[in-house]
Amino acid sequence: MSLIGIDLGGTKVQGVLVDDGQVVADAKLATPTSGVHDVVAAVVGCVARLGGPTSADGIGIGAPGVVEPGTGTLVRAPNLVGFEGRVPLAALLGEALGLPSSTSLVVDNDVNAAVVAEHRLGAGQGSDDVLGVWVGTGVGGGMILDGRLRRGPAGGAGEIGHVGVVVDGGRQCGCGLFGHLESYAGRASMESEARRRHQAGKPTRLVELAGDKRMKSSVFLKAFDVGDEVTLELLDEAVRALGVALASAATLVDLQLVVVGGGLAGKLGPRFVGRIEQAVRSRLFVRTSPLRVVPATLGELAGAVGAALLASGPAGASTALLASGPGA
Ligand SMILES: [Zn+2]
Repeated sequence: MSLIGIDLGGTKVQGVLVDDGQVVADAKLATPTSGVHDVVAAVVGCVARLGGPTSADGIGIGAPGVVEPGTGTLVRAPNLVGFEGRVPLAALLGEALGLPSSTSLVVDNDVNAAVVAEHRLGAGQGSDDVLGVWVGTGVGGGMILDGRLRRGPAGGAGEIGHVGVVVDGGRQCGCGLFGHLESYAGRASMESEARRRHQAGKPTRLVELAGDKRMKSSVFLKAFDVGDEVTLELLDEAVRALGVALASAATLVDLQLVVVGGGLAGKLGPRFVGRIEQAVRSRLFVRTSPLRVVPATLGELAGAVGAALLASGPAGASTALLASGPGA
């Protein structure tokens, strides 16, 4: 079985071609910031580089937003420019790709896809109740309960980045509401906060290193390594916020495992994940909970590989799939 998986992110479109359980090719393009039409064209271009739609039995897309179950319509995608309202992404892609009826097309949330990959092939193997939290530009999430991906009636299950960690007010989140986890642990929110403190008279290496450019995860790591005070404060707040949100989630559904992935978490490494585990465990209601918090292991291809897995149909069909290639 030949499958194409595409991880459509806010900055890049990452694709893989999976053949007989192996990643045999990958392709990467920048995500256009000029609206829906150009983003659809970029996905089509990525599929073309992997052999085109007729080369695959199924195509899976992981998209950075809430995806309506059943229709593949994006109802909320704040990190894609020009995707403000409802965008029928599956329908637009089906038309643009000119898919033969024998090729299936699946659109799901990008972190759901990555968590499915980690559950079947990576850090989550052998655990039936797993929450994945992806700490990057924003904070995404995906949840496996009783061994199956939980989507929910509106497609928003697992969105741990948008649970509240502040009782009243708090920082404004990328979604427009206030006091959400993402506004304390997402890279973009931490960047805004660092710039605000810098302007208010508290100099920080973060702004000195980044200048006017995007404050990348590598900038956070460099500033952390030299003990920059604002960086330490921001990361402390991020760890505490993650502790509050993840302990609440673990208490609510009795989780076995939290897998931490995403660009910022990957850059900061296992010591960051270890601090999150301490913050979670100190807040657990059930003290005997076996909950562990571990880093993701599949690297930056997890989302694309997971999207291919989702295109292969129900769990079990591709459990022999082995991720390989860069980042695996
Ligand atoms: Zn939010």
